[in-house]
Amino acid sequence: MPPLISIENVRKTFGSGASLVDAFGPVSLDIEEGQFVSLLGPSGCGKSTLMLMLAGLLDVTSGQIIVDGKAVKAPQTDVGIMFQDNTLVPWRTVRGNVDLQLEMRGLDPRRYKDRVLDLLGQVKLLDFADRFPHELSGGMRQRVMIAMAMLCDPKLLIADEPTTALDVTVQADVLDLIAALQAEHQTAVALITHDMGVVARMCDRV
Ligand code: ADP
Ligand code: MG
Repeated sequence: MPPLISIENVRKTFGSGASLVDAFGPVSLDIEEGQFVSLLGPSGCGKSTLMLMLAGLLDVTSGQIIVDGKAVKAPQTDVGIMFQDNTLVPWRTVRGNVDLQLEMRGLDPRRYKDRVLDLLGQVKLLDFADRFPHELSGGMRQRVMIAMAMLCDPKLLIADEPTTALDVTVQADVLDLIAALQAEHQTAVALITHDMGVVARMCDRV
């Protein structure tokens, strides 16, 4: 069976002419269905860039990325992403931020109201659906990110340094939640972290 994700000789350059930056590559990597993979590397080596390309949010310069047999060209429902720095829109409520994931994919949030509330329940934030990001703790904001990423039942969940900014006890909560959702939905996970303990404990492959 072909792998769920196939990253083939992908390179990325930014800018043009004299300001051309060869960001990284070529990179090749396969991820199997349900597999928990971690990506390690020093800051600036291109981990976030590769994941943005995998999520269809950034074009590849050369090479290709195949998800479930199809070349990735635009944001799609098969890949959910927890962005580095839990970037929530400050003037939208928790629910409004989750809706953004639908809007980004051209889906109408009104049709998915129950799904959004169900997910906010799963990440234990139902009571905070109509609150704003500044009213939440760091761990709660990461749980909103998890809900956003899981919204479209992705086959792959990308978690880009989800616990770097959190204290140790809250880190464990967020990672346990990711692991529980992975087990429940057989989602593959691509985790970017600098925490070797987390890698040893949670990941199938590095
Ligand atoms: P990591 O997540 O591994 O820390 P990044 O993927 O954020 O690394 O960045 C990889 C490299 O690409 C870095 O050198 C960064 O400065 C560069 N880079 C990322 N985005 C851009 C951009 N939009 N324009 C120019 N350079 C960029
Ligand atoms: Mg990064």
